Amino acid sequence: MLVAGIALQAQAPLPVTAIRAGRLLDPEADRILTNQIILVEGTRIRDVGPNVAIPAGARVVDLSNLTVMPGLVDAHNHLALTYKPEPESNIYYYTYVADSTALRAIQAASNGIQMLASGFTIVRDMGNNGNYADTALRQAIEQGWIPGPTIINAGIIIGGMGGQFFPTPEMAKDHNIVYPEYLDADTPDEIVKAVRQNVLFGARVIKICVDCKPYGYTADEIRLFIREAAKVGMKVEGHVQTLNGAKNAIDAGIWSIAHSTGLNDEMHKLMAQKGIWRAGTDTPDNLAGHPVSAQAYQRTVASLKNAYENKVPLTFSTDADYYVDGKTRGDVCLEFLKTWKDAGIPNADILRAITINGYKVSETEKTRGPIKAGFAADIIAVPGNPLDDVDALRRVQFVMKDGEVFKRDGVMTPSAFFHGGPVNGWRIR
Ligand SMILES: [Zn+2]
Repeated sequence: MLVAGIALQAQAPLPVTAIRAGRLLDPEADRILTNQIILVEGTRIRDVGPNVAIPAGARVVDLSNLTVMPGLVDAHNHLALTYKPEPESNIYYYTYVADSTALRAIQAASNGIQMLASGFTIVRDMGNNGNYADTALRQAIEQGWIPGPTIINAGIIIGGMGGQFFPTPEMAKDHNIVYPEYLDADTPDEIVKAVRQNVLFGARVIKICVDCKPYGYTADEIRLFIREAAKVGMKVEGHVQTLNGAKNAIDAGIWSIAHSTGLNDEMHKLMAQKGIWRAGTDTPDNLAGHPVSAQAYQRTVASLKNAYENKVPLTFSTDADYYVDGKTRGDVCLEFLKTWKDAGIPNADILRAITINGYKVSETEKTRGPIKAGFAADIIAVPGNPLDDVDALRRVQFVMKDGEVFKRDGVMTPSAFFHGGPVNGWRIR
């Protein structure tokens, strides 16, 4: 009976959904087509066009009044970290001591759902996740336990001794407090081992602290990271905060640079030449409880504007890792649109950064992202026209992830995503 049941399941036709899109935004071509039909079969898009026949028995989703578009990407988030004004005064050092990896993994599950509800179908999670809570989140989503974005996770951030912490000698040497928030790698052997550890424990990208300490990495050391990661097809992102760090990272040919404090006009020109992704983490000045000084904000806006003018490949990236009263993690990320608007970047280019460039930096551009036949069925819809008003992205009404409807009429409907077992396969590691 059991065997017969399995055979029957294998032969059952995949469910088909037809989405009627009143408007369909193609951010790559910078255009909107009207009255399109998107046919979704199982987890994939089968066909897109104005005259696609809707098969009998297909479920029809009517989005005639909305603009349908591909899902959003945050290229730098920390889903398993949420520091707060109370009790830790927004100092994540204390969050790390107070919140177990298990608690942080559950927070990550919730933050992932909040991101998906805001239309983010891919999130690059760039470390600070305790003992691999980010891998657990990715596995839980991929195995089919919970809904969430596609996760490109970094595992533990690798840095020279201390990571981004400045611990006391007794806490560092007697209690090893830096680990697992950071993984120390101070010699070539340790660099190779650290990359391999992250690979073994489920990372999909390698994140390094280029210059968190005065003894940061040289260009040659960064090249070693890149070589070792390339063996398993992974890219390296560098946290960069100084001009010298930026020089070393760019010289080494790093994949992406996080943060903008080390980037000036000269660095931007080099990044554009070499095609290095900028994940600027461009924090706006309107997040309650997270004040950004007028000076700092001006600098952020000017840097983003300079990068745009120099044609640096730009990704929408937030570094969101905190709680803002009254906002979901997805809401917080969409607040970053303000910085992009203040930098004078045209809506079409903001939309490209938050979609197309996001797929490229995540390396999903051939499988997931664009609304094209054969691609994963990740589809969202917003009211109005985001090419005219990019803040339309703040009002995501519909979300489909891997062919299942997650949000409809502005309300989350995630029941199809919950299962009592790893329905997509326990071998997914
Ligand atoms: Zn970060």
